Amino acid sequence: MKQHFCIVGAGIVGLATARALAQTFPDSRITVIEKEAAVAQHQSGHNSGVLHSGVYYPPNSLKAQLTRRGYRLLLEFCDQQQIPYRLSGKLIVAQDASELPQLEKLYAQGKQNGLQCELWEPDQFHEQEPYCRGIRALWVPEAGVVDFRRVARALQQWLLDRGHQILTNTTFLRAKEYPDAVEIATSQGEMVVDGFIACAGLYADVVAQRSGIAVPARIVPFRGEYYTLVPDKQYLCRGLIYPVPDPRFPFLGVHITRGIDGEVHCGPNAVLAFAREGYRWSVVRPSELWQTLRYSGTMHLIRRYWRTGVAEVVRSLSKRWFYRSVARLLREVAPEDLQRNGSGVRAQLLLPNGQLYHDFFFKHRRRMLHVLNAPSPAATASLAIGEHIVQFFQEVLAG
Ligand SMILES: Cc1cc2nc3c(=O)[nH]c(=O)nc-3n(C[C@H](O)[C@H](O)[C@H](O)COP(=O)(O)OP(=O)(O)OC[C@H]3O[C@@H](n4cnc5c(N)ncnc54)[C@H](O)[C@@H]3O)c2cc1C
Repeated sequence: MKQHFCIVGAGIVGLATARALAQTFPDSRITVIEKEAAVAQHQSGHNSGVLHSGVYYPPNSLKAQLTRRGYRLLLEFCDQQQIPYRLSGKLIVAQDASELPQLEKLYAQGKQNGLQCELWEPDQFHEQEPYCRGIRALWVPEAGVVDFRRVARALQQWLLDRGHQILTNTTFLRAKEYPDAVEIATSQGEMVVDGFIACAGLYADVVAQRSGIAVPARIVPFRGEYYTLVPDKQYLCRGLIYPVPDPRFPFLGVHITRGIDGEVHCGPNAVLAFAREGYRWSVVRPSELWQTLRYSGTMHLIRRYWRTGVAEVVRSLSKRWFYRSVARLLREVAPEDLQRNGSGVRAQLLLPNGQLYHDFFFKHRRRMLHVLNAPSPAATASLAIGEHIVQFFQEVLAG
């Protein structure tokens, strides 16, 4: 009998999961529902466009496993679909001796994750990036850039070509699970399906709660803002230049990226957004902000990291402070070389004790699965995340 699956969210994770389902259950019918008018309107369309290789993640984590596999699957998909990408490699650069232990830890972890990576002295990394500042760098050749919005559109077309449905302008309202089916209510009507998967990004916890799933934590929105280098300064960066990340946070720090379009982007920072889809300071949703602020996890986070939080707010409001983060990595850059250029909002799972959950996280019942944490590098890992989710349904439907 034909199985019918419903997926909420036409971001890259929802679309990649739909593709994996279609490949594993070739006779199935798949309906993706999306509240926006087009695919990839949120995280999947507002990111750094970096193909991550998996150097940052502990070897036994889902992030390490799914990023390594997702990276390979994504390159294959881009080749099939003739989507341009560039493997420019990445430098992670230590600015002073205090950052060397963390850099060496990343090097060891990269090796454990099966990556080719090397520690370089300045004369070596200046051949790659002549304007890069630093005392030692980790060179990771397997990193690159791609336009994830284009990947999402190609996934959409792949699904449509095989007769599957993507219902845009359709908001998920609630789901109820029965032993053999799931009943779903949307803004456009109801449907009964055999399996239900939620890949709702910034609303992942809300969609889970509306499906009767108790969520142990909350999604908190962290905005990341970008600047672009003016055209006559774009020679300052050839590929990807990253700082050594602070291991307490899942964010990688303001980095410099030559995108697939050839433009050089600087960012993103990380500030608490006043709405889940708050792309600017002026976007405030009082009910969402109130939910974030009254959550115990937010209180613990602010208490523990208020200094970092204040510094992030200052860097967001002051171009000069943002410039300092860029100038730490690049020589010969001046404040007037930076132009503001958009932002993205990260969906970050925050535990009640104030810890930011670093790994991917899924919660399932018999016939439904919720993606509750798919932060960076979930765009790179998306095709492997899709496979991972489908394994769960294979077991359920076989049993
Ligand atoms: C600033 C930034 C930089 C990043 N850089 C990188 C990078 O360089 N490389 C990388 O690999 N990853 C990066 N990421 C992470 C990556 O973009 C995300 O992990 C990935 O896009 C998550 O995809 P998703 O499909 O889960 O979420 P989304 O793309 O946010 O999609 C979720 C979808 O669900 C829809 N939805 C929500 N609620 C409902 C509802 N009730 N009904 C219907 N639809 C609903 C939303 O409209 C949305 O389209 C970055 C993220 C950000 C924000």
